[in-house]
Amino acid sequence: MEKITTRADMRHYAARHGAETGFVPTMGYLHEGHLSLVERSRAENRRTVVSIFVNPAQFNDPGDLEKYPVDLERDFAMLRAAGVDAVFCPPRAEIYPRGVPPLQMAYPDLMRRLCGAARPGHFEGVLLIVHNLLQWLQPANAYFGLKDYQQYLLIKKMALDLEFTTNIVGCPLVRESDGLAMSSRNVRLSANGRTQALALSRSLFHAADLWKNGHTVAELRSALASGMASLRTDYAEVCDAHTLEPLHDKATRKAQTLIAVAAFVDDVRLIDNVLID
Ligand code: AMP
Repeated sequence: MEKITTRADMRHYAARHGAETGFVPTMGYLHEGHLSLVERSRAENRRTVVSIFVNPAQFNDPGDLEKYPVDLERDFAMLRAAGVDAVFCPPRAEIYPRGVPPLQMAYPDLMRRLCGAARPGHFEGVLLIVHNLLQWLQPANAYFGLKDYQQYLLIKKMALDLEFTTNIVGCPLVRESDGLAMSSRNVRLSANGRTQALALSRSLFHAADLWKNGHTVAELRSALASGMASLRTDYAEVCDAHTLEPLHDKATRKAQTLIAVAAFVDDVRLIDNVLID
């Protein structure tokens, strides 16, 4: 497995292999969720490149950035075992040689919803790094998890509007056997917090059942609120999966509905969602 640490080498790789490459951008501390993207990329491309970069531009909370788990040797071993061809793991100065630029791409309507409301600047930082990584590597396909559904939606829009040649692929959310959505941040949970965190997925599954059985949006909201009552909840929403606008009643049922939650457990911010077709 080749290790690439500079933008120049990333561009060289692009010139030689970009057109046959599937790309999986990550912030490291990898788990089965990340590996599911790698597997999909390997099935659909001759080469797979993974990036590991904890992007400071997308952290609105400096404490969260500082505590973000890092273990590059463990990540490399997992990627090697998964058959990845190259890993791009640049130092911070390589990505932002002049500091994080104030340049922003913004979709104001989408960005003020769900995670955007409590994390100002987060999605602007995500779009900046994904834009740059895709420019440098020029992959045929890039793989993103629906765990970060709002992020996927924004990246998909950016790729369309800026006419990227890279195809943006959304991949299913991967869970632990008890339902908890896999996340690098889960390692920061205490044993008690790990149990409390199950309230997110349980509440979502319950709400999805209610939805399928024809209950109203108001009933779903109150079920979500009571299911998550023990947690400091950031949001618990039922929305149109394309616009992320909250739904108000049964009459506004959409072809695709997203039920999404964010809450703090042990001061760790966790997100989860269920997408209903
Ligand atoms: P991160 O390292 O958390 O920035 O995530 C890198 C990529 O992996 C993003 O596209 C995430 O949506 C995806 N990802 C993270 N957790 C999961 C999961 N549990 N299931 C599927 N994809 C995930």
